[in-house]
Amino acid sequence: MNTIVFLGAGPGDPELITLKGRRLLDEADVIVYAGSLVNPALLDGVRAQVYDSAGMDLDEILDIMVSGARAGKNVVRLHTGDPAIYGAIREQMQRLDRENLEYEVVPGVSSALASAAALKTELTVPEVTQTVIFTRQAGRTPVPEQESLQNLAAIRASMCIFLSVSMIEEVVSQLTAGGYPADTPVAVVEKASWPDQRIVRATLAGIAEKIQESEIRKTAMILVGRALADGDTAASKLYDAGFSHEYREKK
Ligand code: SAH
Repeated sequence: MNTIVFLGAGPGDPELITLKGRRLLDEADVIVYAGSLVNPALLDGVRAQVYDSAGMDLDEILDIMVSGARAGKNVVRLHTGDPAIYGAIREQMQRLDRENLEYEVVPGVSSALASAAALKTELTVPEVTQTVIFTRQAGRTPVPEQESLQNLAAIRASMCIFLSVSMIEEVVSQLTAGGYPADTPVAVVEKASWPDQRIVRATLAGIAEKIQESEIRKTAMILVGRALADGDTAASKLYDAGFSHEYREKK
């Protein structure tokens, strides 16, 4: 029996998939991909039978995967970014457990990290923040109260907010209520790494209006925090000439 693979497609650019991921796509007999977000260019030249899961429910998706695996085919379930982040893979894996089918997960480049790359920013800046939060605004999918954006804002870490650009006013009001100053830098990256990528930068106070004007409504990452600010910040210890570590003596 062959193994089913949950595979991270990366954020869009077909070169931002792992070598292993590329090989698995090329060797697949069946690919079920999330057509609403995965770049179809990744599927150019594959020999597999390809299914778009965008219009399917869980049973339909699982039927294709299970029958493919039982027929001895290589099955790839292709998810955008990294499958561990808002990938809804858990419910699929639980079904496969019940069917006694083996599977593995191959990681991908999350859109959060592709967005940071598009902004040419380091999310962990010494003495500014050493923490990155991946989260979302509550919408039709609820978020536990203790991790509301308002509560998370109190930490003042760098934040990557998924699935929320259509609710930008609510995002701003929660972050503000939670204590982020009005001049905190915010960036929205739409379709990070795609040819039509767009970047909108503003302060917390100004971002909602700019997003309204830009008409960005989906496939966008909101990044918030002091780490996005220009200007000099403390340098890291890693390359500090006066700092010894395992690979280098201080001067
Ligand atoms: N597993 C994915 C996230 C899936 S949830 C990952 O790791 O990236 C879908 C959300 O991801 C979108 O609402 C958007 O917030 C974000 N997203 C996905 N692709 C994106 C891209 N290319 N650029 C910016 N945001 C993206």
